Amino acid sequence: MANPLPVPFVDLSLQHQPLQAELLSLFQARLAAADFVLGPAVAEFEHVFADASGAAYGVGVGCGTDAIALGLQACGIGPGDEVILPANTFIATLIGLLRTGATPIFVDCEPETALIDLVAAEQAITPRTRAIIPVHLYGQMVSPSELRALAQRHQLFIFEDAAQAHLAEREGQRAGSVGLGAAFSFYPSKNLGALGDSGMLLTSQGLVAETVRSLRNYGARQKYVHTDAGGTNSRLDTLQAAVLQAKLPYLAEWNRDRNRLACEYDQRLAHLADYGIRPLLNRSGSGHVYHLYVIRIAADCPVDRARLQLELTSQDIQTGIHYPLPCHLQPAFLSLGHRQGDFPRAEALSTEILSLPMYPGLSEAQLERVVAAIQYLVTQSSRATQILDPTR
Ligand SMILES: *Cc1c(COP(=O)(O)O)cnc(C)c1O
Repeated sequence: MANPLPVPFVDLSLQHQPLQAELLSLFQARLAAADFVLGPAVAEFEHVFADASGAAYGVGVGCGTDAIALGLQACGIGPGDEVILPANTFIATLIGLLRTGATPIFVDCEPETALIDLVAAEQAITPRTRAIIPVHLYGQMVSPSELRALAQRHQLFIFEDAAQAHLAEREGQRAGSVGLGAAFSFYPSKNLGALGDSGMLLTSQGLVAETVRSLRNYGARQKYVHTDAGGTNSRLDTLQAAVLQAKLPYLAEWNRDRNRLACEYDQRLAHLADYGIRPLLNRSGSGHVYHLYVIRIAADCPVDRARLQLELTSQDIQTGIHYPLPCHLQPAFLSLGHRQGDFPRAEALSTEILSLPMYPGLSEAQLERVVAAIQYLVTQSSRATQILDPTR
């Protein structure tokens, strides 16, 4: 029998449906204006997004990975520099960093939040360390005050990977306003998504902004005069900028919806802690924008992660794993010299995490179905285990 209420992992059509007329008229306007690369619509969105995030300057680029690479380059990072980043991030953090020629220094994470462990970060600092990249993973910011204290103690600069944290807040500060630079992605499924790839670099420094403006445009500050050797072609499309600007006024409301749904999940899943199922910890309250809602399934949980995911899929409930392999164990980057055991908390996390459906518009009934299905599978398996092993 077909399930009455499928639960997709994300449903982008929900956010576009009410905006359809607005988007179509915007396409027509762009077509009439015929300015497809850069121009005033890009400058306007750069301005409003930087402003909303508490940063002075925004520079639109082709994707989040480019925002990391060009942003770090503009901050002066290059060969010989060491830059600290968490081992458990999306691979783009590493790929962007490697493009500068700098040496990545991985550190482990805090098990409760999956955010970078700043104590481990401090231990990894050497005389060559120039910067730290906190990744505001899953939509939760790394503590701005702790980051600043660390950066000041060791004369490092902070470069935020805020690709999952549009308008996230912690200690009264917004993602994108803490570092010398910050990278955002507008990949379609991010909290603020374009209809294709795009990204932005935010900074409080005019010089950094000017350099990225040049780097994204073949290294030219003046047409056909190429002064910056690391230049490339990576611009935010005018059409995408217009789409993003149309969606931006809804972002705070969408984020509130995500936060509300996460609180609901937290409450309804709380009693499964005894079975080894625990949501990651929210240390920033309503400032957490829940790009993803992630639970941990402990090794001693009566149902293992693979089976739980498979059973949920068979009931039309889609889940994800972000991410199944930490950066230091990815086949392409084994030459960095790491092996299993180097970052045990990131490694354990990668085998235990599961991302549940989370998007603005996920209904109460759908959330209820997800929770009920998990609860049934866990308690059933627990009974089965007790029957097989009466000593438990
Ligand atoms: C999405 C993402 C990126 C990269 O963004 P793209 O636009 O896909 O290049 C970088 N870091 C993190 C943490 C991300 O989630």
